[in-house]
Amino acid sequence: MKQRTLAIIKPDGVSRNLVGAVLSRMEAEELRVVAMKMIKMTKEQAKGFYRVHEGKPFFESVTDFMSSGPCVVLVLEGDDAIRRYRTLMGATDYTKAEEGTIRREFATDIEKNVVHGSDSEETARFEIGYFFNALEVMA
Ligand code: GDP
Repeated sequence: MKQRTLAIIKPDGVSRNLVGAVLSRMEAEELRVVAMKMIKMTKEQAKGFYRVHEGKPFFESVTDFMSSGPCVVLVLEGDDAIRRYRTLMGATDYTKAEEGTIRREFATDIEKNVVHGSDSEETARFEIGYFFNALEVMA
């Protein structure tokens, strides 16, 4: 089943020049880029994006981090894309991520973990709409 998911190369990935390496890993897994841009979120925009985490101990910190520098936001398309891209990312805590995953290879911290990916179809719809309008996503 063809699906779309929202991916982010987080500020640590961009500042460490990992954009190309991460994109290569996505494309090698048959995840097709159907939208992509670089943005720098304000603190308020980061809070809106991570609103499900409001009230958690790491909310202030992760929204500071996500608004600390530019991110690359993308829409990826492929069969079972949501689950397959989550597998490619690896666990939130890179020390627990499987060998060969993006986070295991590149992350340096539970927070600075290089990439984001939607965790369900409902989340993907919200997150794609948060960053992209219809003209920016390929039909
Ligand atoms: P994800 O779906 O794997 O990205 O994980 P979550 O939705 O649970 O968390 C969102 C993001 O918040 C993670 O990717 C991390 O950047 C950050 N985060 C999650 N857990 C922690 C934590 O315990 N401490 C800190 N500082 N950041 C965290």
